[in-house]
Amino acid sequence: MTALIEHWLDGKRWQGTSTRRAPVFDPATGETSAEVCLASTADVDLVVSSAGAAAGEWRQASLTRRTQVLFAFRELLHRRRRDLAEVITSQHGKVLADALGEVTRGLEVVEFACGIPHALKGAYSEGVSSDVDVYSIRQPLGVVAGITPFNFPAMVPLWMFPVAIACGNAFVLKPSERDPGASLLLAELWSEAGLPDGVFSVVQGDAEAVDALLEHPGVEAVSFVGSTPIARHVYETAARTGKRVQALGGAKNHMVVLPDADLDQAADAAVSAGYGSAGERCMAISVVVAVDPVGDDLVQRVRDRVERLVVRDGREPDTDMGPLVTATHRDRVRGLVDAGVADGAHLVVDGRDLQVPGRPDGFWLGPCLFDHVTADMRIYDEEIFGPVLCVVRAASYAEAVELVNANRYGNGVALFTRDGGAARRFQFEIEAGMVGVNVPIPVPMAYYSFGGWNDSLFGDTHMHGPEGVHFYTRGKVVTSRWADPETRGPNLGFPVHR
Ligand code: NAD
Repeated sequence: MTALIEHWLDGKRWQGTSTRRAPVFDPATGETSAEVCLASTADVDLVVSSAGAAAGEWRQASLTRRTQVLFAFRELLHRRRRDLAEVITSQHGKVLADALGEVTRGLEVVEFACGIPHALKGAYSEGVSSDVDVYSIRQPLGVVAGITPFNFPAMVPLWMFPVAIACGNAFVLKPSERDPGASLLLAELWSEAGLPDGVFSVVQGDAEAVDALLEHPGVEAVSFVGSTPIARHVYETAARTGKRVQALGGAKNHMVVLPDADLDQAADAAVSAGYGSAGERCMAISVVVAVDPVGDDLVQRVRDRVERLVVRDGREPDTDMGPLVTATHRDRVRGLVDAGVADGAHLVVDGRDLQVPGRPDGFWLGPCLFDHVTADMRIYDEEIFGPVLCVVRAASYAEAVELVNANRYGNGVALFTRDGGAARRFQFEIEAGMVGVNVPIPVPMAYYSFGGWNDSLFGDTHMHGPEGVHFYTRGKVVTSRWADPETRGPNLGFPVHR
């Protein structure tokens, strides 16, 4: 019998009232390993009502109680990290070590959230007037929702809910329907950690569940991570229905290699960041900009490394890269490789015919490397989200920066150089939210905030860190007088402090 992946309501698994289901695949074998429930609008309504009731009580939990639950959750998540990684690998396909890395980066956000009492401290001004003090506090919003993509089924939800819950909100997660298994394990850990029922819920589903959350009057804020067209839809719809919204979109991350760079270091970085997780990372490097005259030398070094990559089932040790998430996605990426060839780019490494022994039906695509890509080609313009690295040649630093800044995305970018002055100039001039200097995937630590610019982010706050705390709380300023008034009687003038 196929396993059923359900919702999480009131601290328990719940099938919902809808009978709609979607298959969940094991990408390495191509088999259907489970079915996931797809919520109806009525199901979403029940989940949000439960979360609403829980939010009222949770906002009254003391900071001490909240942090005790967070510390317990951190310990459980740390202890069960391998179980969680195995679930991720079995539904996403990324190699086990990479799945463990994703859980570790998510754990860092839980650790940040354990310090929430410090992050929530307000300001206090004593004696702004005679016997009058002013102080500011930040309070939770109520029910907040998180809608997440397939590529980080644990880490991206973990960017959101530890901070939201620590701030005193109830959180409703709508994970990707392609690899929803991690969400239920996370829900069980919350229960075990002592979080009251209803403060963390999971609603499985597709566009119907998303739209129901966006329209629901009981949802105060929406955090979204996914592709740019859906991010735009989420941002516009949630804003229209009066919600606070942050919607992170797609990416096309460039890595600029200056002529003075350490080319072995740059080639290692390009291959790690280009093909790790089969290129299905929002911070993957998809374009290398080789500044003259390093192009030929750099491409040769990248090629040498790409040809040695081991592609097979991510559960097997010493595997570099696993399959893509679904056959549909693999076919789309392969179609883009075909388009690159048709548009005249040089396909230096062709992974289209890869066969993996013993796994004939897995969703395989070997690493592909293109050289002499130009900005008018589809493989440059579209987000590929697969194991395809494109090298663009640029005549100068200025031309490279112009190319990057003309791109409609602005998530991450990297510069490889030995010149500190060039690096300083680059960080000032480049238009992206996260910049790496000799670091190919500059994902900020949990105590900074994660987010891009331009079409990589709709909204004005990034995720986790201080901006996450700001997003999941609203400000209040209290002006108080604790003394007997010297004079009595009304005064209709505008209050002025003396
Ligand atoms: P996606 O946009 O297809 O799906 C994201 C979420 O939106 C899922 O929960 C999905 O169920 C829902 N969704 C899909 N279609 C919808 C529709 N028509 N209406 C309403 N909701 C819908 O993204 P994906 O394929 O799961 O993930 C890959 C994308 O996510 C890539 O574009 C990648 O760059 C992006 N991403 C961005 C970041 C970032 O930090 N900017 C991080 C991770 C992934």
